[in-house]
Amino acid sequence: MYFDEAKIFVQSGAGGDGMMSFRREKYVPRGGPSGGDGGHGGDVVMRVNPQMNTLTTFHHRIHYRADNGKKGGSANKSGAAGETLVIQVPPGTIVRDAETDQVLADLVRPDDEIVVLRGGRGGRGNSRFATSANQAPRMAEKGEPPVERWLRMELKLIADVGLVGVPNAGKSTLLSVLTNAKPKIAAYPFTTLEPNLGVAAYDEQDIVLADIPGLIEGAHMGVGLGHAFLRHIQRTRLLVHLLDGASSDPIADYNQINVELVLYDEKLQDRPTIVVFTKMDLPEAQAQWPQVRDKLKSLGVEDVMPISAIAHQNLDVLRNRIQQDLSNLPPTSWQLPEARAVYELPEDALSFDVIRDVSGYRVLGKQIERAAAMTYWENPEAIMRFQKILETTGVSKALLDAGVEVGDTVHIGDFELEWSD
Ligand code: GDP
Ligand code: MG
Repeated sequence: MYFDEAKIFVQSGAGGDGMMSFRREKYVPRGGPSGGDGGHGGDVVMRVNPQMNTLTTFHHRIHYRADNGKKGGSANKSGAAGETLVIQVPPGTIVRDAETDQVLADLVRPDDEIVVLRGGRGGRGNSRFATSANQAPRMAEKGEPPVERWLRMELKLIADVGLVGVPNAGKSTLLSVLTNAKPKIAAYPFTTLEPNLGVAAYDEQDIVLADIPGLIEGAHMGVGLGHAFLRHIQRTRLLVHLLDGASSDPIADYNQINVELVLYDEKLQDRPTIVVFTKMDLPEAQAQWPQVRDKLKSLGVEDVMPISAIAHQNLDVLRNRIQQDLSNLPPTSWQLPEARAVYELPEDALSFDVIRDVSGYRVLGKQIERAAAMTYWENPEAIMRFQKILETTGVSKALLDAGVEVGDTVHIGDFELEWSD
């Protein structure tokens, strides 16, 4: 798995149990109900941290669990809520349910977030069950159990400008002189496994450049790491295509990269591009520059810019050109200054199934299974309440329709009940 994909397991916090207690008053054997509610279990949230630019942390840690809510206390004291677990992700993280592959969120802007799991509801204490008919309810609710899921993350970096070119063209070097980035520079491909991001400070606005390494022949086939990097290009507004002035055939390099890009994503054909011819400090680059320029012109590439990253030739011109081109381009959806995105999970449907098997009847349904898990079975009043829930949700009727009889066993979640009138 590459640095820009990850799979993690998340679990919310359980709700705290509700308390059953009664006030103690002088001369009164038993006062009113005073059991507090359990605290809400912690949610699990994913939030964009603009400082991050890889998913590598998720290769070292896979399990994430929010805190449980605390048990309710006497004197109507509510239990403390479990803290929300915030998982920080880089901008450009696409979050999917690993089982269904459904996209849950595309976290792009700083502070975009998604609640990936809701913590369990706290069980209610017995004071909440007091009615005029029953002023001393001997029942409370247990906390709602936690929920869990596997999530798959995929990173598509967000950068204004993508630097592309064959290995050794000088992408990392150019990034290091245009921006604050300190990428590894070496004379072989894949010096780093991570695309480097750099920020160029301009008067009006900072511009983010990404050095996208490893475009090699066949990258579109998933050979080598090229493929994993290519996806990052999709989210740039402008490309800087770097030609190695010292290459034996810069035009062939140029064509090769263009083919790779188009094979990966046809839309990249129309991406605005500045073509740059680098290493102009070297005699061989100077020698072939006129032919290369003319050949590119015949291919329809009008202003190719000769530079030297190492000798700092023409860098200001390039900087201005990048800024100008960007300011003429419309902002893309992920750059619009809208309010941050907050994704919410849909509520669980109130659906259930009744099936019959050798051991009796089984009721399947998230809500009803949760209600069973929240019941104190040792408590007759709680059991009566659960029976009411079975009736109001239609589960009782469904069981009767399925042919349940007195004495039959009914399974709901982890619980085994005997059917009676
Ligand atoms: P990348 O693979 O495209 O990231 O290329 P690098 O930035 O790692 O550079 C590859 C090699 O070319 C390194 O040895 C650099 O020092 C060298 N290089 C990069 N830019 C220039 C330049 O402007 N002039 C000269 N002479 N060498 C350069
Ligand atoms: Mg490099």
